[in-house]
Amino acid sequence: MGNGTANMIHLYGTAEQKKMYVEKLTSAQWGGTMLLTESEAGSDVGALTTTAVKNPDGSYSLSGNKIFITNGEHDLAENIIHPVLARIEGDSPGTKGISLFIVPKYYVNPDGRLGERNNIVCSGVEEKHGIHASATCSMTLGGKGNCIGYLLGKEREGMKIMFTMINHARMSTGLQALTYGSASYLLAVNYARERIQGRDLENFADHSAPSVPIIKHPDVRRNLLWMKSYVDAMRSFFYFLTVRGTKARLADSEEERELNENIYSMLTPIVKDYLAVKGHEICIQAIQVFGGAGYTKDYLVEQYARDCKITTIYEGTSGIQAMDLLARKIGMKKGAVFMNFLAEIQNTVAQAKEANGLNHIAGQVEIAANRLGEIALHIGKKAMSPEFKVAFAHALPFLYAMGDTIMAWMLLWRAVVAVEKLDGAKKKDAAFYEGQIKTAEFFINTELPVTLGKMNAIEASCAAALEIPDEGFGGI
Ligand SMILES: Cc1cc2nc3c(=O)[nH]c(=O)nc-3n(C[C@H](O)[C@H](O)[C@H](O)COP(=O)(O)OP(=O)(O)OC[C@H]3O[C@@H](n4cnc5c(N)ncnc54)[C@H](O)[C@@H]3O)c2cc1C
Repeated sequence: MGNGTANMIHLYGTAEQKKMYVEKLTSAQWGGTMLLTESEAGSDVGALTTTAVKNPDGSYSLSGNKIFITNGEHDLAENIIHPVLARIEGDSPGTKGISLFIVPKYYVNPDGRLGERNNIVCSGVEEKHGIHASATCSMTLGGKGNCIGYLLGKEREGMKIMFTMINHARMSTGLQALTYGSASYLLAVNYARERIQGRDLENFADHSAPSVPIIKHPDVRRNLLWMKSYVDAMRSFFYFLTVRGTKARLADSEEERELNENIYSMLTPIVKDYLAVKGHEICIQAIQVFGGAGYTKDYLVEQYARDCKITTIYEGTSGIQAMDLLARKIGMKKGAVFMNFLAEIQNTVAQAKEANGLNHIAGQVEIAANRLGEIALHIGKKAMSPEFKVAFAHALPFLYAMGDTIMAWMLLWRAVVAVEKLDGAKKKDAAFYEGQIKTAEFFINTELPVTLGKMNAIEASCAAALEIPDEGFGGI
């Protein structure tokens, strides 16, 4: 997190702050964190109660308690720089009244040398389901003496500034889940090649027939291809959006930068949550491929499944990403950003229709993209009607339907390239390219029809989740 902290200081800090912190954070000589969450302020960051009081020298004295702080305390770096969200005494409630402060673990002298310890202390370390190598800390600010913080940017602009780090962290969280999923898939496919168990189905009745590696069994092959289809598609999607994020900053014209920024912004909640949820499902399926061995601690797949789960929770839970997509993103620029995105899918569809053997799956992706457009219009309108709560009850299924359609698009795109390359490819490369085409066929013919059914369900707008009485849930 040092880089995220450094980036915020680079963008919003004073010349002195940049000189003091940026280089040491980016070189990892010092560590960074992000201090948002409090026990009463998780998803609702605006409810935070950490307070800042201005001192005569322009610094602020902070007091409050934060929880769940990644790398809040450790001795891996000589200093830790904490960006802390707090409310200056007297400022308004909610997110609009929040400011951002740099709180160093050790004060930094003007010559760069470390001074006294600041009064920010770790008051506990969480015992967690996974990511045991990452210290998740409760932090007390100003519990026993003065905790000094320095304003970053302007007063009451804390959330705007913090979002430069949050958006970056959302992309990183998606990437984190993708890498757990990808590693789990590779472990599973290698295990399936080595684990000998059961006869080939065609020799089922022949007891003298040899046992085969489990990769020969149709159900294991289905599971592996299911995993591969998501891993490949999610990797392409992540690269696609990273390129768009880079172009948003570096493209030649202002118009191009804005176009790229808009699509990057619209699709960030999908990279964050879709990759998190599917990455975790892939890890679980990898355990399945290993059978009993996968449930033991002897193989890494069990650890990856535990480690991956956090990605659907931190940096904004699944539900929060779905609300962001529905309330802020699909209607961006009166829906023009969404329409441009659908047009990009249709471009790939048109290319695929020209490619040898891809006509059928191209048609399926075309149908899904058109249907997604209808569903977006439907849910967008509902979100602005008196029945807005029904729309929000379907916001996460909508995010997943959009994610599925993007997966199909990415796999179709990969298949288009594979068809081109297959002609005259060497044997080993040919297997790779054939693998790409089969992966696209698998996803588009077996997963995408389910998505179309789920889109029908979104359109049907069942309100049961809202209508069920609280007592009707049972429990207590
Ligand atoms: C391992 C770990 C590391 C973390 N690292 C950091 C860190 O470095 N810095 C930091 O500041 N925080 C950190 N967090 C905190 C994390 O960001 C929060 O846990 C997360 O934002 C959810 O907040 P909460 O736990 O209070 O859950 P809650 O906000 O109580 O949410 C509980 C459930 O209710 C749902 N929900 C809540 N509000 C709404 C709503 N308005 N609409 C729909 N659904 C809603 C949520 O989706 C969730 O399913 C970390 C957490 C963990 C577990």
